Amino acid sequence: MNYTAEFGWHRSRIVPYQPITLDPAAKVFHYGQTVFEGLKAYKTADGRVQLFRPDANMKRMNRSNDRMSMPPIPTELALEAIKGLAKIDQDWIPDGEGNSLYIRPFVIATEALLGVQPSLEYQFIVIMSPVGAYYPEGINPVKIFVESHYVRAMVGGVGEAKTAGNYAAGLKAQDAAKDQGYTQVLWLDGAEHKYIEEVGSMNVFFKIDGTVYTPALNGSILDGITRNSVIRLLKHWNVPVVERVLSIEEIYEAGKNGKLEESFGTGTAAVISPVGELNWRGEKLIINGGKTGQLSEKIYNDLTGIQYGKLEDPFGWMIEVH
Ligand code: PMP
Repeated sequence: MNYTAEFGWHRSRIVPYQPITLDPAAKVFHYGQTVFEGLKAYKTADGRVQLFRPDANMKRMNRSNDRMSMPPIPTELALEAIKGLAKIDQDWIPDGEGNSLYIRPFVIATEALLGVQPSLEYQFIVIMSPVGAYYPEGINPVKIFVESHYVRAMVGGVGEAKTAGNYAAGLKAQDAAKDQGYTQVLWLDGAEHKYIEEVGSMNVFFKIDGTVYTPALNGSILDGITRNSVIRLLKHWNVPVVERVLSIEEIYEAGKNGKLEESFGTGTAAVISPVGELNWRGEKLIINGGKTGQLSEKIYNDLTGIQYGKLEDPFGWMIEVH
């Protein structure tokens, strides 16, 4: 679908997967005006195909668009595109739990003009790919490197937008962490390197003395849809959950006092990733003996249960593809 200042969003179409042609002066290449989303379609045992909270993704996409000076896309129009394509592609989802169809909607600035002003032309594209189980051998803890040098985002910057540059900014730290045997980076705040923000592509939670804590949204953290869903599930179960500023020091302190019961990341790709180990400035903190915690396991089972249609969906999260 295309956007011009004159016609707004127009020319919706579904075409076979193919390369696209862009002018070398297209603004996306030079000034980074681009936004994306990530969501999944799941197939139930009785063959229904359903999307997990696509409306939440589209609302977030429009918040990102706004931050990047890009035009909003009417939610209904974007959902129609996603549902229409998912319907065509649904046969690509292999049967069996863990398999899904990953959906990547994105917007790029296509106006061919060098000059730092918002583009007057855009393209909205949706691509999809089947993905296999994230945990083919069962849910497994990850080891995370706490980054003390590089910064992903600053309050007042574009950290809360799902825009490409945020991810490019993290690659160097991610590579260095991988070289040391860590799969992910935990980002701290950009001003003081003290407060926990999020993991590369996940939000993060800590269970301390029976209460679940997660960093409050502060403008530099992505408002994760899995994060929001987990908070709602916990409240539904009457598990105390607190969103507030969290320092890395207090997490280490709780770990040393034996009060840190478990930790997990949340995101569309893995749903729940238990955290087995943190490494902050060379000091390792093993969490829950490096094993998956009971709460992580329960949230994982319940959320995936809702997604695969095995459990009731009390929140009306699943949207069927007709
Ligand atoms: N933070 C970042 C930076 C991410 O890229 C993602 C993945 N979209 C998340 C958090 C988790 O968000 P969600 O639960 O919506 O996938």
